Amino acid sequence: MKQPIIQLKNVTFTYPGRNNMESATINDVSLDILEGQWISIVGPNGSGKSTLSKLMNGLLRANKGSITVNGTELTSSSLRGIRQQIGFIFQNPDNQFIGSTIFEDLVFGMENNCLSRSEMDERVQRFADKLTITPFLHRHPSELSGGQKQRAAIAAVLAMDPRIVIFDEATSMLDEGAKESVIELMRSMHASGQYTIISITHDMDEIIASDRVVAMKSGQIIADDSPFNLLQQEEIIEACRLKPPFYIALCQELRQRNIDIGIHLNERDLVNNLWQYISTM
Ligand code: ADP
Ligand code: MG
Repeated sequence: MKQPIIQLKNVTFTYPGRNNMESATINDVSLDILEGQWISIVGPNGSGKSTLSKLMNGLLRANKGSITVNGTELTSSSLRGIRQQIGFIFQNPDNQFIGSTIFEDLVFGMENNCLSRSEMDERVQRFADKLTITPFLHRHPSELSGGQKQRAAIAAVLAMDPRIVIFDEATSMLDEGAKESVIELMRSMHASGQYTIISITHDMDEIIASDRVVAMKSGQIIADDSPFNLLQQEEIIEACRLKPPFYIALCQELRQRNIDIGIHLNERDLVNNLWQYISTM
């Protein structure tokens, strides 16, 4: 049995200055995330997804409850060590650059981790290669497209060797091709078994590719299930403002017309089952 790498127990948080009469921003949330898991966090705007992820890496501190990362409870003295294990990718890649070239940015993150020059050079090369940004290493971030910038930001995070990577709507500003390349990268990170991935997203391709979906509403978890099970729950889809996946919606429509071929997430399964159904008619 795998151990939870992140464990939230009855976590409650409200931003300072918020009216006490309002319900808490994060309201008594408990959640275990297993090592190596790829979790999608979904929910409408303002439901607390970003706040929850900032609590996990100590950018915000809970008012109540406990957060444990890799066996260590998050406190002011463990904060630094825990931060080093968690990488964060934001929605807007422009907000993540500090250096005047992509190369400087990759090195900057690692310098805080006290690595040798040769180790840093090796990592820059390895992750620039993996994220296909080698040709842009000595360019200013503003010379890159949105997708290239986001890949550079991811390379900078991965070069710090985190065990947990949080993507906060990291594909939402990208065009279709750039989005696909980030999802492909998440797939390969997941397959390597080296990372626990937490991705806040509205993107159906990303949700379907993940292991588990946690749905939030008004600071609470309202569903926690496999993508296959969760995406069949119309009320959850609606509460989270998700666009129902086409193939599931089609299967449900067919079922309402007494053509029950089961529920399928992709075209191939749907077509195969439809053929089988027709051949028994
Ligand atoms: P989500 O990521 O799901 O869109 P957030 O976690 O950003 O939601 O926000 C949850 C709630 O907290 C919202 O009501 C939002 O207005 C509020 N909020 C977010 N950031 C702050 C902040 N820095 N100060 C005060 N309130 C905030
Ligand atoms: Mg958010």
